[in-house]
Formats: sequence, C-alpha cells, structure tokens
Amino acid sequence: MVAVEIILASLLLIVAVVWFAKRSKSDKNSLAQSEQTSSPERLALSSLLDATMTGMREGLLVVNRDMRVVASNPAARKLFNPSVATLQSQRLTELTRNPAIYSAFLDGLKGIERSGVKVETHGPERQIFDLRVVPIGANGNGAEGALGVFFDITRTERLEIVRQEFLSNVSHELRTPLTAIIAFVETLENGAIEDAESCQRFLSIIRKNASRMHSLIDDILELTAIEGGNVQLRAGPVDLFALAEEVCASLAAKAAAQDVTLKNNVDPEVMVYADQRRLEQMLTNLVDNGIKFSREHGTVSISYESDTRDKILVHDNGDGIPSQHLDRLFERFYRVDRARSRDMGGTGLGLAIVKHLALLHHGEVTVTSDLGKGSTFIIHLPKLS
Ligand code: ADP
Repeated sequence: MVAVEIILASLLLIVAVVWFAKRSKSDKNSLAQSEQTSSPERLALSSLLDATMTGMREGLLVVNRDMRVVASNPAARKLFNPSVATLQSQRLTELTRNPAIYSAFLDGLKGIERSGVKVETHGPERQIFDLRVVPIGANGNGAEGALGVFFDITRTERLEIVRQEFLSNVSHELRTPLTAIIAFVETLENGAIEDAESCQRFLSIIRKNASRMHSLIDDILELTAIEGGNVQLRAGPVDLFALAEEVCASLAAKAAAQDVTLKNNVDPEVMVYADQRRLEQMLTNLVDNGIKFSREHGTVSISYESDTRDKILVHDNGDGIPSQHLDRLFERFYRVDRARSRDMGGTGLGLAIVKHLALLHHGEVTVTSDLGKGSTFIIHLPKLS
C-alpha cells in the first residue's frame, strides 16, 4: 500500500514538473506562435497534461522565489480559496497561515525536498493532507521555484482511527471475561475447590465468561469478514413466512425462559429477495435482542410491509431505547447499558452485523423506539423484480 502510494506520488510529481515546465514555456511564447511551431503530438501531450492536472484530486501549487503562486490546479484552489477563479500571483502567506505548509515551501526554495508533511484544515469539513514539496530548477543558490502536491489522506486517517478504536475495544472486551476467569481459577486453586458448592458456582461463572469470549471472537470474525468484502451473498427468492417460523423456532426455548411470546405475523405468500442464510442471521440477531430487552410477559413479533422496498419489521414491547442513543446504536460495541448487555451475554456487535449485512443486500436497517413502549427494527430490502 505504502509502496503504491510512493510510486503514485513520484509519478504525479514527474507529471507535475513536466506540466509546470510546459506552462512556463507557453507563458513566454504567444499562443499563435506556439501553435505554429507545435507538432500535433506535442499538442496532444500538452492537452493530456492539462487534462491530468485539471482532473486530478491532488492539489498542485507552484511558487516562485518570492513565494508567489505561479501555477495551481482546481484542486488546490478548492483547498485554499474556492471563491476565487485563480490563485495566480498571490503570496503563499495570503493563502494560508499554516506554518507547516510555509516551512515546507521555504525548504523547497532552498533546494530541499520535503515529504510526509501532515497538513490539517480546520474548516467545517476537516481534511487531512500529506504534502510533498520538491524544488524546481535547483542550483547552488537554492531553487527557482517549488512545487507542492497535496494528497488527501482524510479517509485513510479516519480508517486508521476506526481501526485503532476497534482494536482497543476488542482488547478491552476480551480482557473483562479473561480477568474473571483468571480470578475464579485462582480462588479455586486457593482452596475453594474443596467446597463442592463453591466449586460448582465458580465453574459455572468460568464457563459463562469463556463462552462470552467465544461469542465475541465469533462475532468479530464475522464482522471482519463482512466488512472486508469476504462474504459473498447468494441472493434469491426467500419464503419470508417459512424463514420467520424457523427463526422463532430456534429461539423458542430462550423466549420461554424469559416468559416472552414470539409471533410470526408474516402472510404465508410473502416472498423477498435475499440471501436466505444471511437474512436468517439478521432476523435472529434482532429477535434475540427483542427477547433480551423485553419485559416479563413481553411479545416479540416479525411482520412484513410492502413499500418502495420490502420492509421486514421486528417489534418488541420492551423498555424502548432513549432517543439520544438511536443514532449510534448500529456502531460496533455501542450499548445503551453496558453492564446489562454483558450480563445477558451480549457482545455489542449484533446490530453492527445486521447493519453490514443489510448494506451488502443494498438495503439498510433502521430503528424507531418509544420509551416505555418498545422498539421496532426494520430491515429494508430492494424488491424482488
Ligand atoms: P448486544 O450484544 O449488547 O445485544 P447489539 O449490537 O445487538 O449488542 O445491541 C446493541 C445495544 O442496543 C444493546 O446493548 C442494547 O443496549 C440496545 N438494543 C438492541 N436491541 C434492543 C431492543 N430491542 N430493545 C432495547 N435495546 C436494544
């Protein structure tokens, strides 16, 4: 990845230097003169370079010895001053007060190449750039100008932050059950093993924590596979009534243990277009949550509505979710009540998996909730055409 970026950066720099050289030359000659002397090949090359510079996403800025802009492309204008048509002749200090940019161009004029300069903008849309500056026409006394290329690395940086957060969350989530397991094993080793009743109790806590780690690892692997594009959907027509029956049957024992009734309200003839196994996984996660967060004698139902898309609704009449949590509910490891979720063996990844599977189907999942009345999760799927 880094090697590819370096090659790309070098290529862009070569193109940019050629473009600059061509520009300065054509500035000196009149257009008519240059058209007379230019061969068709040279013109083709010239328009190719212009198109490349204009179309490229990277911002390009060339300054002369006086730190005035002598060339720039549209991406650089957008970065520094979208309201003006050209940055030509402006001083670099008029464009930006960012000391990192200034010092990189100053070095460029001294004949020193700079790369990996991190530049952040602080407008409404925060952007991060990797700036590379190369001297142009360098001799013993410095350079005639300096050319800077601004690579937008906002997305990469964001992904890196998400990755780091994910890693730290995973470590934290694994550490909690592991600490409990170690503590109870030590207690057993220190004599509790002699007492049959304590022994039984501690072993069951150890088992509960071990299976929590197991589910967590399963969910992490599952989510990583889905997000990494390693899950291929086998979409086809699915009998939704039959699928809802299966989901209810597989969770019947759990529902009964919590005194929750499961209802399949889907009409028998309804067909949707999906990957059957993956849709079952989504419904299982949602119904399972409905049971976990339901009240005593509660009901969790699956129903279907037809709109511009197919809508599969999982409704519960549990406690509901406070509105301030709804926006973040589908984020990995986000829980309204962390302790309660853990206590019920939750991993905090169930809804994130549902979200990514729905996206993979070119659909989405949404939620509405009334505090004290219950929640409805809706899977929206493109219609069977
Ligand atoms: P968990 O393993 O904790 O269930 P999920 O990703 O499935 O993780 O759900 C994230 C959080 O969303 C839960 O911890 C809970 O706070 C909230 N939640 C999910 N479904 C419901 C529901 N039906 N009713 C109330 N809260 C819910």
